[in-house]
Amino acid sequence: MNPQQEAGGTRGGDAPTPLLVIISGPSGVGKDTIITALQERRHRPAYHYVVTCTTRAPRAGEIDGISYSFVGVPEFLAMRDAGELLEANEVHGNWYGTPRAGVRDALGRGQHAILKIDVQGAEEVKSCAPDALLIFVLPPSMETLVEHLKARRTESAEQLEIRQRNAALELARKDDYDYVVVNEEGRVDVTAERIEQIITQEELRGTRRRVIV
Ligand code: 5GP
Repeated sequence: MNPQQEAGGTRGGDAPTPLLVIISGPSGVGKDTIITALQERRHRPAYHYVVTCTTRAPRAGEIDGISYSFVGVPEFLAMRDAGELLEANEVHGNWYGTPRAGVRDALGRGQHAILKIDVQGAEEVKSCAPDALLIFVLPPSMETLVEHLKARRTESAEQLEIRQRNAALELARKDDYDYVVVNEEGRVDVTAERIEQIITQEELRGTRRRVIV
């Protein structure tokens, strides 16, 4: 079943159309921190961060079902083949995929569904849901990005190299996005505010149709 679009800018009454918001950016740019700040900015539970699935091993401190749904490769491929994933892609050598049900449930509750997925996933979702809102987060410089990745100490030397190499490929795709936001050093609140402004602006404009997945 492919995502479809439903005509009309609102769900009836004054409620804004819930948006499918995709946030991409290279590893180490600060996407998780931005999403946390974004969720804290709104008093009503307007945003729902959709937990995605991965075959990557959990890092220290990551919690299954909160950080990701950590699954084995056979389980992942079975979900993908059963059509349970809105998109499924290999990123930095592991599988990652977006559960269709997580997106559907959030939008059904009238919440904006926030997805933190890579450039391949964004392209796949956009091709079947053209009204998805795509936001790319840029680092202030490549040097800052590499410093962050190293300081995090979550990656092996091999993973660090893969992620640095992939960063250049991801940055080259930024023009495919609706908006590009620079996450300036130490200014995560400003970045979250900017993203909130973009979402509010799109809500008010009301030209994006409701995505049905
Ligand atoms: P990490 O391993 O650092 O948590 O994530 C690596 C990359 O995978 C990030 O750039 C993140 O945006 C991307 N990612 C996380 N979940 C998904 C997903 O469900 N689908 C896709 N395509 N990318 C994802």
